[in-house]
Amino acid sequence: MPYSLSGVGHNGFDRADLHIHTKCSDGIFSPEEIVRKAGKAGLKAISITNHDSVAGIDQAKPLAQETGLELIPGVEMSSAYKGYDIHILGYFFDYQHSELKQYLDNCRRLRTERAERMVHKLAKMGVKIEIEQIIMKAQNGSVGRPHIAAVLQDGGFVKSFSEAFSKYLGSHSPAYVKSIETHPEEVIRLINEASGLSFLAHPAQNVPDEILRQLISFGLDGLEIIHPSHDTYRQNYYREIANEYFLLFSGGSDYHGLKDQEDSFGQTWIPYEWVSKMKSRLPAPK
Ligand code: AMP
Ligand code: ZN
Ligand code: FE
Ligand code: FE
Repeated sequence: MPYSLSGVGHNGFDRADLHIHTKCSDGIFSPEEIVRKAGKAGLKAISITNHDSVAGIDQAKPLAQETGLELIPGVEMSSAYKGYDIHILGYFFDYQHSELKQYLDNCRRLRTERAERMVHKLAKMGVKIEIEQIIMKAQNGSVGRPHIAAVLQDGGFVKSFSEAFSKYLGSHSPAYVKSIETHPEEVIRLINEASGLSFLAHPAQNVPDEILRQLISFGLDGLEIIHPSHDTYRQNYYREIANEYFLLFSGGSDYHGLKDQEDSFGQTWIPYEWVSKMKSRLPAPK
């Protein structure tokens, strides 16, 4: 196999990590810190893929240019289909595209409103936190449940992140409010309109095969093959499905910089050749 999940035992392949979160959504590190980490890890290319936000790209750009790191415009967009939360990764799009930009601005507003509703639900359960604390955690970016979990932990309402999700924030827990519910076909269209490529993120998380095939029929350009939640069996499984439909492969670490992953940066990667294949399939700019 041309790639490894351990990253040790170098085999001469240039490496890329196309799934990284920063402070602009629910990651810990700034875009600049991620560029530095990528340099240290010897990566040739990265993509910063914040949840429903392109805010980290411009921040990372100058340092990436200075250090010779290829920065591929990226985003991880939320959508919902038949009750499933579907994450779609977009790459190589024009991140200044006005329709996409407007859409993402609206997502930011919707996410803040959703957090407010979750704060109300928590208050009814006797858990008093302020929306301002959550917005501060998100540093003006895309607000999500991980930020609420962090505030709950700071306030001593829960001992851990996972307790915050099991007790309050999980999709079957009492303070849960649904997130962005755009149809995946619309998300794929928006990425295409901005001349980008769309990939289904971490297909093993929650997506049965029947749904996966329906998502492919909506026009996905590829599947995320390498992800920390995919063992070798799943990597091969999704590669076969991608090949069946002539789809591209992508992958990355889904690094958020949380405590348990802090030192793992650079260990999950894809061969740069997959990036080259993507480039050869880019649509003509509109
Ligand atoms: P949101 O987009 O606001 O609904 O938040 C989704 C994010 O919350 C995911 O990308 C995960 O990082 C995190 N998350 C979801 N469920 C859990 C869980 N059970 N435990 C820890 N983190 C979770
Ligand atoms: Zn996240
Ligand atoms: Fe995701
Ligand atoms: Fe992610």
